[in-house]
Amino acid sequence: MGCNIAIDGPAGAGKSTIAKLVAKELSFIYVDTGAMYRAIALYLLRKGTDKNDPGMIAADCQEADISIRYENGEQQVLLNGENVTGDLRTEEVGNMASVSSANPKVREWLLSLQRDLAAKHDVVMDGRDIGTTILPNAEVKIYLTASVETRARRRYLELEDKGISCDLEEIKKDIRERDKRDMTREISPLRQAEDAALVDTSDLTIPQVVKRILQIYQEKMAN
Ligand code: C5P
Repeated sequence: MGCNIAIDGPAGAGKSTIAKLVAKELSFIYVDTGAMYRAIALYLLRKGTDKNDPGMIAADCQEADISIRYENGEQQVLLNGENVTGDLRTEEVGNMASVSSANPKVREWLLSLQRDLAAKHDVVMDGRDIGTTILPNAEVKIYLTASVETRARRRYLELEDKGISCDLEEIKKDIRERDKRDMTREISPLRQAEDAALVDTSDLTIPQVVKRILQIYQEKMAN
């Protein structure tokens, strides 16, 4: 059994940036579960699956074989054998993922992949239900959050940086909608696990957040 660090939180809280750095510091593997949901969403978008038809999503998702591998320490997501890593971080795919991930069949489809990775390796795994559902016995659980304004600004800068023009108010609206969907869905809603440490990143720099999580890890391991 590997040592497991679960990092959950809403979109744009900084999970992937932070989880990647924590994993590097500890020589753990970083597992980005959002990318797995995004790969299924990409499949559904390509296929033209109706996002308002849960039966169709449940059936179609099972045609999407998702696996991951690592290249120079970076997670690569394979969708039916094709490396789709570069196609996953668009708003369109993120919004579809937020809808399709509420489908029980989609979650079931990815559950064993996530648990197997955590059983075989020391992992920092980020997502929405890692500490509550996927790895309830994780050694360390973190709930990473930030205000809607901060998260929207970060997403805006990230997109601008990639040369994608966008509207800050639109992004805020998307984030609020995504939060609502992630937090109110019936299956595996986003919530802080009872034994998770809350880390609000709104007024912290990236190195400060990493330091705080490493401290929490060391405290847990010392007990
Ligand atoms: O974290 P990221 O924005 O890449 O995730 C995309 C979507 O996938 C989220 O909005 C969320 O609905 C879903 N997701 C999930 N459970 C996870 C990871 C992501 O439901 N463990």
